[in-house]
Amino acid sequence: MELVEETPYRWRIEPEGAMRVPGVVFATRELLPDPAADQALGQVAAVATLPGIVEASYAMPDMHWGYGFPIGGVAATDVEDGGVVSPGGVGFDISCGVRLLLADLHVDRLRPRLAALMDALDVSVPRGMSKGAVWRLGSEAELEEVLAGGARYAVERGHGEPGDLEHCEDRGAVADADPAAIGSRARERGLRQVGSLGSGNHFLEVEAVAEVYDEEIARAYGLWPGRVCVLIHTGSRGLGHQVCTDSVHTMQAAMTRYGISVPDRQLACAPVDSHEGRTYLAAMAAAANYGRANRQLLGQAARHAFDRVIGDGGLSLLYDVSHNLAKLETHQVGDRARRLCVHRKGATLALPPGHPDLPPDLRAFGQPVLVPGSMGVGSYVLAGVPGAPAFASACHGAGRRLSRHQAVKTITAARLRADLEHEGIAVRGASARGLTEETPGAYKDLDAVVAACARAGLARTVAKLTPIGVVKG
Ligand code: 5GP
Ligand code: MN
Ligand code: MN
Repeated sequence: MELVEETPYRWRIEPEGAMRVPGVVFATRELLPDPAADQALGQVAAVATLPGIVEASYAMPDMHWGYGFPIGGVAATDVEDGGVVSPGGVGFDISCGVRLLLADLHVDRLRPRLAALMDALDVSVPRGMSKGAVWRLGSEAELEEVLAGGARYAVERGHGEPGDLEHCEDRGAVADADPAAIGSRARERGLRQVGSLGSGNHFLEVEAVAEVYDEEIARAYGLWPGRVCVLIHTGSRGLGHQVCTDSVHTMQAAMTRYGISVPDRQLACAPVDSHEGRTYLAAMAAAANYGRANRQLLGQAARHAFDRVIGDGGLSLLYDVSHNLAKLETHQVGDRARRLCVHRKGATLALPPGHPDLPPDLRAFGQPVLVPGSMGVGSYVLAGVPGAPAFASACHGAGRRLSRHQAVKTITAARLRADLEHEGIAVRGASARGLTEETPGAYKDLDAVVAACARAGLARTVAKLTPIGVVKG
């Protein structure tokens, strides 16, 4: 594979073999995956063979190996030109994403009550595989309401504040969701898990604004130094996972019928405009709504914990955005506007200033892009910029450097807990294994990833958040 350095922040994989477009990787030389340990660059090239793909198979600076598509991959296909949709381009955790809430509180005032707050969050945030959920759905009919209405339905049922929806991507619910497209096994799993964190990489973190890089946007976002925030990372739990599994099977069986061949079975796909394509997108949208309702409920659980411990935490929602999704969007490609199916897998939508989908109070500043790093280093908030490449997308995290298997060998849980406590970071939940799988050393250098993202013109750096306490799934 020929990798050409276009700029210090942009690399090109020349088309060869069945590739229809080049690969474009946004990264510094240091951040590029090591081909000996991680096959993500080969995955970028493989995605470039998908029918209907336009411009390039893109990858963000936090890229790493994933199922079929790399995590950090962005690929758009032309719906009117036989373009396909691939469940592997969305990922198993459909609409996994992050939500950032801002407390009306300075970190210095929180410190004396931090342990109590963390204990309250520990109790009110269900996690793990089978620990129940905030909301036990009474019936399948109620599950269908969640699948159709997402966070909007949760708010209607009293789980939230009306202002929340304005600050959610798609105003809390993806259109074109069809609960009927969700299979019975997925439904079964969905009944018990809405309002639960899940395991491993998912978390609820208390953070504080540590550094401001763009005063004007930070002010507009409400990110003043020392302000306490809550970042929630979770997705569509077993329901989304089951939808992905079911769809991959269906598409693997259907591909020959459409005359599609892919270099990797994990890239199973079907034309967007086909029965299988439409069914997947309708099920994916329903699972995405489940994920949005899930984050809405956990945000509400955090509010209740703040209310109990702080009196009035006053948590307001800055933004909720998913980083595993395919969306039908219109973009200018070459000399014309085209209807595209944009896959973002481990990549965040980053709408530019002025975009009509942004809420009025944020519109002039661009979309908040939420970039978690690890429980040791915290997170960044970036903003969407005009004219960005890769269909208005940005990185979604620091990105894994070590596999879970490798990570657990680098540190003991006791040592990691002690290190974090020493740095003033309270830890709740997580098994010993779960914790060490998530050791900060398992992730890339967040500062370097965010700098590469900004230098590549994908987004603007607004503020850095430092971790204070983490509830791990
Ligand atoms: P993913 O969606 O790929 O599982 O995770 C997104 C990103 O979250 C990862 O790339 C990683 O950088 C970040 N991350 C994982 N665990 C934590 C955590 O406990 N706290 C914070 N702030 N970030 C984390
Ligand atoms: Mn997830
Ligand atoms: Mn995620």
